[in-house]
Amino acid sequence: MKHTLSCAAAILSFTISTSGWTACLEPGASRVQLQVLGSGGPRASGGRASASYLVWIDGIGRILVDAGGGTKDPFHQTGANFDDIDLVALSHLHPDHSAELPALLWPDGGRTRVSGPTAGDVFPSIEQFLNSLFGSGGAFEILAPRVELETITVDVTNAEPIEIYREGDVLVRGVGVPHGSVPTIGYRVDVGGSSIAFASDQNGSNPSFAELAKDVDILVVHFGGPENSTGMIAALHAKPSVWGQMGATANARQVLVSHLNIPSAEELETRLGFLRENYTGLVTVAEDLMCLDVR
Ligand SMILES: [Zn+2]
Ligand SMILES: [Zn+2]
Repeated sequence: MKHTLSCAAAILSFTISTSGWTACLEPGASRVQLQVLGSGGPRASGGRASASYLVWIDGIGRILVDAGGGTKDPFHQTGANFDDIDLVALSHLHPDHSAELPALLWPDGGRTRVSGPTAGDVFPSIEQFLNSLFGSGGAFEILAPRVELETITVDVTNAEPIEIYREGDVLVRGVGVPHGSVPTIGYRVDVGGSSIAFASDQNGSNPSFAELAKDVDILVVHFGGPENSTGMIAALHAKPSVWGQMGATANARQVLVSHLNIPSAEELETRLGFLRENYTGLVTVAEDLMCLDVR
């Protein structure tokens, strides 16, 4: 079975037959597609893996955005090949965005680029992070001979977006976004006339990301707290209404809501209601293995 439909169908077919794994791109579908590998958050997420997304270009999974816990199996279920990954773009080093990288590289290793933030607060730089995993004396030194990672460090204090990767008509840019004191990057991927922006975890208080995301086809946002959140949660995560404002300011064609560890379906609907008060475009709730045509 070839498939672009629901993750439920994909998972069902996976349980009964290995021939049913979900590949994102079907012949004749749009040239660029976005596949959700993980739509959960850091806490209990109802079986969802933590944050991770795969951008398919001309039938090849080439750009992996985040690698949160539990995304190894969804990655393999898509039929993607790590050898095809040109860039692993990590938004920040919270485990629900980065912890699965060693598992994705195990046991075969891999050769790719990895982008991530500069150091800050209690967080290492992306270079220190990768060395602590795969370098000499690192936790997974067993992989050291098998991995070749080109590190791309994004200075999150830079006011302007930074070009991270460009090849042919593929362009990836990133800019620092406010996520408490956690160095964090929001990304934009352009492929020809198709575009996706990954807001990651952020409180939405810096307009530079909405500017980077201007006129995107899909804006991926992360629910992290309720509309009445305060204190630490409010410093870390945008309220649903703020995500709606961002979608409207950016003039995004579609908003994909992800990072879901929400206590109930009713609470999810409540948060979506606040988002929709400020954004009138298409709103999609992410599911693991969901595949979206970008354009
Ligand atoms: Zn998170
Ligand atoms: Zn986070």
